[in-house]
Amino acid sequence: MRNTRCMGSYDFDLCVVGAGSAGYAAATTARGLGKSVALADGEGPLAGLCILRGCMPSKTLLRSAEIAHLVRTAPELGVRVGEVRYDVPHIVRRKRRIIADFAADRVDGIRSFPLFQGRVRFTGRDTLAVGEHEIRARRFVIATGSVINIPPIPGLAEAGYITSDDVLDMEELPSSIVVLGGGAVAAELAQYLARLGCRTTILQRSATLLSGEDPDVGTALREALTQDGIRVVTETALLGVTRDAKGKCVRFRHAGREEEVCADEIFVALGRRPNVDGFGFEAAGIAYDAGGVRVDPYLRTTNPVIYAAGDVTGVVELVHVAVYGGAQAARNAFSENPQPLNYDLFGARAVFTDPQVGVAGLSEKQCRERGIAYVSARYPFAELGKAITAGLTQGFVKMLAAPDARILGVTIVGAEAADLIHEAIALLYFKARTHDVMEMPHLHPTLAEIMTYPAEELCERLEHEAHAVVTP
Ligand SMILES: Cc1cc2nc3c(=O)[nH]c(=O)nc-3n(C[C@H](O)[C@H](O)[C@H](O)COP(=O)(O)OP(=O)(O)OC[C@H]3O[C@@H](n4cnc5c(N)ncnc54)[C@H](O)[C@@H]3O)c2cc1C
Repeated sequence: MRNTRCMGSYDFDLCVVGAGSAGYAAATTARGLGKSVALADGEGPLAGLCILRGCMPSKTLLRSAEIAHLVRTAPELGVRVGEVRYDVPHIVRRKRRIIADFAADRVDGIRSFPLFQGRVRFTGRDTLAVGEHEIRARRFVIATGSVINIPPIPGLAEAGYITSDDVLDMEELPSSIVVLGGGAVAAELAQYLARLGCRTTILQRSATLLSGEDPDVGTALREALTQDGIRVVTETALLGVTRDAKGKCVRFRHAGREEEVCADEIFVALGRRPNVDGFGFEAAGIAYDAGGVRVDPYLRTTNPVIYAAGDVTGVVELVHVAVYGGAQAARNAFSENPQPLNYDLFGARAVFTDPQVGVAGLSEKQCRERGIAYVSARYPFAELGKAITAGLTQGFVKMLAAPDARILGVTIVGAEAADLIHEAIALLYFKARTHDVMEMPHLHPTLAEIMTYPAEELCERLEHEAHAVVTP
């Protein structure tokens, strides 16, 4: 640790607060611009949410659950195997090994910067205290991430509950669980638990799972999760939790009636909230509230020398957005020509359930909210050659185009949707039109080929059916 005043009255060109995905991207980008950069973080383990308790551990566990499912369903394809048994301690040990390697690599990168660890708080408009050190920097990037959101549900704290952090590290699974919430983390980890034999109920407040997406996405996912034996109850209002001989019981209102579901454990998956408390933002003139640090389209906070990126801004909680935001914040902080963030392109997202969900560009919901006219076409995997041969027939592709045939967005629910969606991202990046998809080669038989079907339908409809355009 050091606190040298080496550049006039500033110690560093940039000090990044929070060394997770956004912070690390900001630091490496600024260093690439020739700037002197320090990182400040807390006393806890380094490497960030995605590596330690987010994307990577969850996907590692999901793979085991997917293989269990494949083995269980193998007889449908004529492959006879024995009874499926799970070794959860082995699954979790494998995850720990993989995560330890990712984390060690990232920590090496983090430690290549001057690193200050301790209690972090702003003490002025360009001054940050970290433990006993004080750092003055020309610019700051705040990237302190998010924390798990636990709403005040009567009786929940007394009954006890677990969060995604616990699910990712559980060596012994409960025999039954109630999952509160129906977002991406809830759906992914509910499927993990269910496929490893845990009787799982999802209680979701909205009418569909993944309520931010078009309703057909949540409906298709619900069908799939139901096939995994998960009970999905939507349009619920949580009333309270009790604990008795039946286990942990959640009372909720549904379809005008009061109901109760009891299980060994309750998994609270009701989202995360920006990590904004206790950083002394007031001393630096940084406006924030429970929705996050307030930023402009260039990620600048209300203090013009301080930027913010990643989950702490409360905009989009995805790691590629955190990396993009961190890098762009660092560039903007030192640029005469700052660039606004392009969330329409970078807001592309995936959910790693089986079937997966991939969304790029605009959804129908977003087109309607923004008053954008569009035409939509859908094609089911159940009619695609490769999907039929592979037995991967769940889901669909939906493509939206503007009346001038420019592709506005693509939604995929289906096998490998998280990878397939990258063709859509490329189409959107290059501002492609529907006929471009038809002119590009698509190999046969592949899952990617499915993109050509809605594109073809859109070409035809745009040419012959003026009434096909949905005008909000
Ligand atoms: C279970 C789960 C699965 C997920 N899966 C995916 C996925 O598949 N794909 C995807 O895109 N996203 C996924 N996410 C979301 C993704 O992990 C986050 O959006 C992303 O990691 C946020 O990065 P960040 O840099 O904003 O925050 P973080 O990586 O959390 O970094 C915050 C940093 O701030 C530091 N910090 C926190 N508090 C303090 C303090 N008081 N003082 C000093 N330092 C502090 C932390 O130590 C950390 O280093 C998942 C999240 C969860 C929970």
